[in-house]
Amino acid sequence: MLAARAPLLTRREDLLASLAAPQVWDLVVVGGGATGLGIALQAAREGLKVALLEAHDFAQGTSSRSTKLVHGGVRYLAQGHWPLVREALHERQSLLESAPHLAQPLAFVMPTFRWGEQAFYGAGLKLYEWLAASASLGKTRFLNAQATLASLPGVQTEGLRGGVQYWDGQFDDARLAVALARTAALEGACVVNHVPVLSLIHENGRVAGVRAQDAEQGQLFDLRAACVINATGVWVDGLRMADGLEHGQATTPLVTPSQGVHLVVDASFWPGNKALLVPKTADGRVLFAVPWLGKVLLGTTDTALPDAPREPRPASEEVDLILKEAGRYLRKVPGRADVLSAWAGLRPLVQFNSMSCAQSGGTQKISREHHVEVSSSGLVSVTGGKWTTYRAMAQDVMDQARTHAGLKAPLNRLPEKYLLIGAPELSACPNQLTGPPGLHSYGAEQDWLKAMPGAQVVLTPGLTEGMVRFAARHEYARSVEDVLARRSRCLFLDAALAKSLAPTVAQILRQELGIDPHLDAFEALADQYARCP
Ligand SMILES: Cc1cc2nc3c(=O)[nH]c(=O)nc-3n(C[C@H](O)[C@H](O)[C@H](O)COP(=O)(O)OP(=O)(O)OC[C@H]3O[C@@H](n4cnc5c(N)ncnc54)[C@H](O)[C@@H]3O)c2cc1C
Repeated sequence: MLAARAPLLTRREDLLASLAAPQVWDLVVVGGGATGLGIALQAAREGLKVALLEAHDFAQGTSSRSTKLVHGGVRYLAQGHWPLVREALHERQSLLESAPHLAQPLAFVMPTFRWGEQAFYGAGLKLYEWLAASASLGKTRFLNAQATLASLPGVQTEGLRGGVQYWDGQFDDARLAVALARTAALEGACVVNHVPVLSLIHENGRVAGVRAQDAEQGQLFDLRAACVINATGVWVDGLRMADGLEHGQATTPLVTPSQGVHLVVDASFWPGNKALLVPKTADGRVLFAVPWLGKVLLGTTDTALPDAPREPRPASEEVDLILKEAGRYLRKVPGRADVLSAWAGLRPLVQFNSMSCAQSGGTQKISREHHVEVSSSGLVSVTGGKWTTYRAMAQDVMDQARTHAGLKAPLNRLPEKYLLIGAPELSACPNQLTGPPGLHSYGAEQDWLKAMPGAQVVLTPGLTEGMVRFAARHEYARSVEDVLARRSRCLFLDAALAKSLAPTVAQILRQELGIDPHLDAFEALADQYARCP
């Protein structure tokens, strides 16, 4: 009965006091994205004593910048990796069931313009549906030109021959991350944001803990742990290198970052509630137009970068590519001036020829997509994978940490099904993620939101003063950015609107938390998202 419980308070003093208390943790997880949070939740549910430290905010890295798809990975079909797709489809189902207020089925339509395309892609998508078996979200259907147009009212009609409709899911990535953090806390984990890990503690040649620092007040913490997991995504090499240096070893970098850009435009550019998938653009990429929270996401790109900035910037050539391809498939063609928000996320491309795969298991399953390495001193590093399979990934990482890095056996047996905080008891949520933001994102916690002071004060449709107070009291928010980028998704949807709301949000946060909520930094960030290069 998650809804009946009062939401836990996320008081920073209490969280920091837990970090300061002398104790040995069973597990310390570094990194609060999908991967680290999934591991922390799994470990807490197993009854282990776990702390998770995030340098910035939960999902501030790649995990708030995805295409928001819960998917089995259609592209693996062509490569014959059917077991991999089947397992991902199973994970798709379990993610949708665990948080029906934040993750919902979505119909995708692939329009076809050339002879033979419909039969080719349709056969693959029929196979996709068949592999999902009981986890299927709906039938794959062949559409004629008229039915395609009825499904995709915004599609380019010239040369349109037909289409194929199939089903996957969509979600709110950053809010799901916060739900993972809050559920892990409910299960007993100590999860804390804005506490970067500075270094590893080694004893007798083994990793014995981490040194971390509160980013707000500067307090240092030495956390002792039986096992440390480095789940820092595209930044995974930082701790790997530090670990190697301790033994005088030069560590080969594991990751090269690759940037994926998304542009957000008004819903009028892609009316309706179905997504567009173009499997092969003129330059061989995949193009999506996804209705999400009342706007449309267009993306994405795949551009190698020399380093991994905390706040990556879309390049003008990437914007050109997306707008050019969108212009081929959308009847109302978007230009730069129509972009409401432009943002980028970083994929960790793993270099296979390094020592990284030494203990990666090498199976045909989920572990193919991510990479786990256990160093000679017992540091477990994980990177890669996708949001959809975070839970299977967490299980795989923990299995390997048990075999190679001294992680304790589970104390509890876990049921297969699980619900995240806010999940309605009866998973009968209408599909609302394509529509505008609102209370629906809070699922079974809506009554708590309605009871918050300021619940009736609407800052903009879908965001109330009560929601900002809830974010500060119960969702670990510490800054204007935490609220407007990841508790509300306003920055990602409409950066100029987010900037205009920022002073009011800052004022509420000052009242709630008594700290500087970094208004200036947020305004500069909003300018960056609003300025389409
Ligand atoms: C453009 C793009 C689109 C995508 N679309 C999809 C999609 O539609 N569906 C899907 O399933 N997957 C998608 N993915 C993949 C998915 O987003 C990632 O697999 C996932 O978010 C990775 O999570 P992570 O936790 O490994 O990394 P991150 O989310 O980057 O988390 C790592 C965290 O570690 C923290 N950190 C770093 N150093 C330290 C330190 N020293 N101390 C403490 N914390 C530290 C960082 O601040 C960061 O928050 C997409 C990826 C990209 C790039």
